[in-house]
Amino acid sequence: MTKAYAAQTTDSPLAPFEIQRRDLRPNDVQIEILYCGVCHSDLHQARNEWKGTIYPIVPGHEIVGRVTAVGNDVTKFKSGDLAGVGCMVDSCRECVNCKKGLEQYCKVGNVQTYNGRDRITGDVTYGGYSKEVVVREEFVLSISDKLPLAQVAPLLCAGITTYSPLRHWKVGKGHKIAVVGLGGLGHMGLKLAASFGAEVTMLSTSPDKEADARRLGAQKFVNTRDPEQLKAVAGYFDFILDTVSAEHDYALYLKLLNTDGVMMCVGAPPTPARVPVFTLMDARRSLAASGIGGIPETQEMLDYCAEHGISSDIEIIDIAYINEAYERMLKSDVRYRFVIDMASLT
Ligand code: NAP
Ligand code: ZN
Ligand code: ZN
Repeated sequence: MTKAYAAQTTDSPLAPFEIQRRDLRPNDVQIEILYCGVCHSDLHQARNEWKGTIYPIVPGHEIVGRVTAVGNDVTKFKSGDLAGVGCMVDSCRECVNCKKGLEQYCKVGNVQTYNGRDRITGDVTYGGYSKEVVVREEFVLSISDKLPLAQVAPLLCAGITTYSPLRHWKVGKGHKIAVVGLGGLGHMGLKLAASFGAEVTMLSTSPDKEADARRLGAQKFVNTRDPEQLKAVAGYFDFILDTVSAEHDYALYLKLLNTDGVMMCVGAPPTPARVPVFTLMDARRSLAASGIGGIPETQEMLDYCAEHGISSDIEIIDIAYINEAYERMLKSDVRYRFVIDMASLT
């Protein structure tokens, strides 16, 4: 049995739980989990905010650790290697999107690291708030030893989820981009967009985060609760990367886009977006969304971050602190990602 932390119902806190990891199949990699980042999606799903949660749920999809065993057919990994696992552990691997390395958009549906179902047994998948995980090798990422391991964990979701749309829309030099929400995704979006050469503005509801935003790469900071500050950047941006986790007014931000500007949504509030079409029509603006990133792009992002010294700003926590961490996340009090030290799970 493997030690883990699980939520048993919509409103029960996370608590110790034991799970059974499968015996290694020929293509499987077994990983001892050393660190796991805490994503707001963990909270959304532990509390069934997106509906469809299968209980008990063991969240966690920002996993880094060390390989402890491999199946007979595994070629990419051996015992002792550093390894990472993000939001997916399998997909059909055959459809047009999988063939393009867009497994997140698998036509059959990818298998999520937790709250998914194994394609062979149908068993519910359990995530990274645990000591160990067994994953098919195609879905295991190589991790460089150049960066502190705990700070790499959040790249597996927050990193790739912001890297992918920034690359897809080719954000870089000469562009003005605003990042909305300075949390886990937001702080990675800020660092990455700045490293791609764009002029980055932080749009935040927390004025006390201004100094951090500037240190992380923002050239401007706008307190979105101040209408005067918002007015000063009306029609200003080429792109907006929206990482907000809670219900908010999309039109308020859309108006800040220049003609032909694109708002890339990665935040996933449970409530639907309400957008007057005129806000788009006024300036041929686009409202778009993007989901995590495929496996090849995730590896590309990890390699890019290792090369450029980019990692997450984290607060390391013991697993027993997880429920308090969730409450702080809800209060926008994350600086800027909680990462669980799995040595604390005993
Ligand atoms: P997080 O660390 O909690 O950060 C969210 C930030 O949003 C907060 O720190 C806050 O920043 C801002 N915010 C919160 N409530 C707000 C409100 N009512 N109005 C305006 N801003 C508000 O969360 P995260 O882990 O970065 O995740 C963010 C969202 O992305 C979640 O919904 C998550 O499920 C989703 N997500 C999506 C994908 C994907 O594939 N698209 C992947 C991972 C996560 P300020 O204090 O600066 O205002
Ligand atoms: Zn996530
Ligand atoms: Zn597929």
